[in-house]
Amino acid sequence: METVVESSKPKNQQRTAIVYFGQEREDYLCLAAAADSREFLNYIQKPLQAQLGAEKHRVGCTEISRYTGHGKRERYLQGWLGERVTVPIYRVRCCGCGAVFTVLPSFILRYRRQDSDCLSKLLTLSLSMGLSQRHTATIYTWSGLERSWTPGGVWSLLQWLGNLLPVAWLLLRLGLMPPAHVLSDEKFAAVSGERIYLFLISQGELIWSTEWLKQANEAAFEPAITNFLSAINTESQRQEQLPPTPNYQPQTVTTDGWKPVQNAWQSQVSSINLLECRWHGRQRIDRTLKEYAQQHPELTKEELQQLKQKFGHLFAAPSVTAYSQRLRRLHEAYGDDPILSKRLTILKDKQFLFTDYLNFCNASPFLAPLDRSMRFLDEKLQTFGQFWAQEKINATLNAWALINNLRTFLPDAKRAGQSLVEVFGASLKRIPWMEALNLCTVGRLSDLVPASG
Ligand SMILES: [Zn+2]
Repeated sequence: METVVESSKPKNQQRTAIVYFGQEREDYLCLAAAADSREFLNYIQKPLQAQLGAEKHRVGCTEISRYTGHGKRERYLQGWLGERVTVPIYRVRCCGCGAVFTVLPSFILRYRRQDSDCLSKLLTLSLSMGLSQRHTATIYTWSGLERSWTPGGVWSLLQWLGNLLPVAWLLLRLGLMPPAHVLSDEKFAAVSGERIYLFLISQGELIWSTEWLKQANEAAFEPAITNFLSAINTESQRQEQLPPTPNYQPQTVTTDGWKPVQNAWQSQVSSINLLECRWHGRQRIDRTLKEYAQQHPELTKEELQQLKQKFGHLFAAPSVTAYSQRLRRLHEAYGDDPILSKRLTILKDKQFLFTDYLNFCNASPFLAPLDRSMRFLDEKLQTFGQFWAQEKINATLNAWALINNLRTFLPDAKRAGQSLVEVFGASLKRIPWMEALNLCTVGRLSDLVPASG
C-alpha cells in the first residue's frame, strides 16, 4: 500500500511522477512488462526531469537528472465496466541522492483505484450532469461490480478532485494565457439553512476562479479577487509566462452592477475598466418602466411600447457619444418625471460602464456566458444537502470548475467532442481530458508530452 505511506509524508516528500506513454494503454504495458527495463528507463528520463525539481529530492542532491530502476510491483486497477486488471508499476531511484520515486502512467491517478476513463465518467455524471451523489453511485453500481460504492464515495471523489490543483493552474499548464477580460459574478447558495455566496471569475464560459463567501460585501470580495490574481501570478512566474511586467492584471471586468464587487475590483486592480452587464441594465430599466406605467394608468399600450423602444435604442448606441446624445434626448422628454429622471441619472453615471466594451474587441458586455456555465452548478447545489460542510465548499467548487472546463461536449453539440479549454485555444494533444488533468498536476502539459504525441 504505497499510497498510504505517501499520504502520511509531508507534501514535498510525495515522490510520485506521472508520465504519458502514448495513446494506447498497450504503449505503457509493452514497455513496463518487458524483461529488459532499459527502454522504459530511457523513455522516462525526460518527463521525470521536467517534473521532479530539486525540492522533490533529498536535501543537497546535485544530480537530479538521472534515474535508475528500483523494482516493480503490481497494482490493481478498475475500469468503468468493473473489470479489474493488474498493471505493473515501476519505482525508480535518483542516481544522485538515492530518493525513490513511483512512476505512474497517466491513466492511473494517485490514491484512486479506478482508471482515468472510469473517473472521468463518474465525475462527469456527478458534476456536469447535475446528478446527486446517490444517483451517481447507483448508476456506477449498475454498470460495474464494485459493491461498496456509495454516495459518500462519490463525495470523497469530488473532494479528492477539488484538491488536485486550482483551476487557474490547470488552464495555465495547458498553455492558456491569463485572461485580459473577465466576467465576475456572485450567486446565492445555502449551507445548513444559512445563506452564503459563490463568487466566480471567468473568461466567457471558461472558469478561472471559484470561492465561497460568507457575505457579499467589499471586504469579502477583496481577498477573493486577490486570491485569483495571486494564483495566476504564482503559476505564471513558475512558468516564466509573464515577462516583462511580473504582475497579472485584467484589463476589463464585467459585473452585474453590484457596487461592492465593482469597488473591490477597483481597489485590487487600479487600472481596471469596469463594465456592467447590459442585460442586467435592461432588466433594471424594465422595472423602472413598469413602475412608471403603474403611476400613469392613462398611458396607452402604444405609448408604453414607444418608451421601451427609446430606452432600447439607448442601449444599442454604437459609441459613447451616441449614447450620451440619446440619453440627453430622453432627459429632455422625460426629465421632469421623478421615476424616469432617477433612472436616467443612473444611466448617465454609468455611461462608461455600459459603453466601454466598445473599446475592447474581446470584452463581453454580458454575463450570460458565465451564467451558462453556472447552470449545472445551481442544480448541483440543490443536491449536496447534508454533505455540505463549510471547509469542503471550496474544494467542491474547484472540482466543478475543473470538470466544467474539461468535460467533452456531447456528439450533438455545436462543439461536439471538444472541451471548453480547447475552444479557448488550449491543446490537449489528443489525450483524454482526465489524463491531461493528471499530467497537469505535476507540470506543464507541453513539457511532459513529446511533441509528436
Ligand atoms: Zn536526487
